[in-house]
Amino acid sequence: MELSSKNDKLWVVWIHTYYGKGRTVEYIEAKQASWLVQKILKAKQYMIEVGVNLDEVLEKEHITINYIYKKLKQDHQKMPWRKLVCNNGGMPKWIFILYVAILGKLATRDRLVRWGITNELLCPMCNVEEESMEHLFFKCTYTTTIWEKLLQWMNVKRQPMEWSQEIEWACNNVRGRSANAEIYRIVLASCVYYIWQESNHRIFGAQLRPTGALMKQIIQMVCGRGYMLSRLRRTLEELISTHNEF
Ligand SMILES: [Zn+2]
Repeated sequence: MELSSKNDKLWVVWIHTYYGKGRTVEYIEAKQASWLVQKILKAKQYMIEVGVNLDEVLEKEHITINYIYKKLKQDHQKMPWRKLVCNNGGMPKWIFILYVAILGKLATRDRLVRWGITNELLCPMCNVEEESMEHLFFKCTYTTTIWEKLLQWMNVKRQPMEWSQEIEWACNNVRGRSANAEIYRIVLASCVYYIWQESNHRIFGAQLRPTGALMKQIIQMVCGRGYMLSRLRRTLEELISTHNEF
């Protein structure tokens, strides 16, 4: 857009005169122009579509990429949980499942029944309650035990809560780049992933592993991942040495 006022550049003057014929850039059509000129002129269409006021732009002396980016991006509400997902050093597949779980989109049995895919509603972990997001994370006796022990392992002194409260608690209490905060985010993602994997293994006929075995796998995987990030090593070693019963 800044080009529209650069009358000291010969090619800009030429475009204004030859294609513009006295019109502003908003009304210039240049079907016979070169690829480059057509691209530049076509950009105005994108700007108009996202609600950029061309008059406002033409009045400005300088237009920055930042200004255009913000206009194109538009204002969207920032999700409070985004940092749990975006600032998570866990494996991508853990973060993906955490993200789907936060959106409430995991294909738990209550949803599968609603879609007519199965008639089986019972949670494959406890075989007592219906399997739903809220039940799996963390009302089920099996998963509650695992999350409770993982909280102890991280020295977080509270009991497991229901899913929405867990996410809210994490958003409020697990911020920043301290080692403890980073480890918490990784453990949460890993825990959700391996619980979801265990539930699926169970559906497809595998034996349910004892909570201790799943817990051990989660900690081993978290440590394996965390050791790749040197800033987490010391804290992980402290956690391992103080909780060697796990
Ligand atoms: Zn259950």
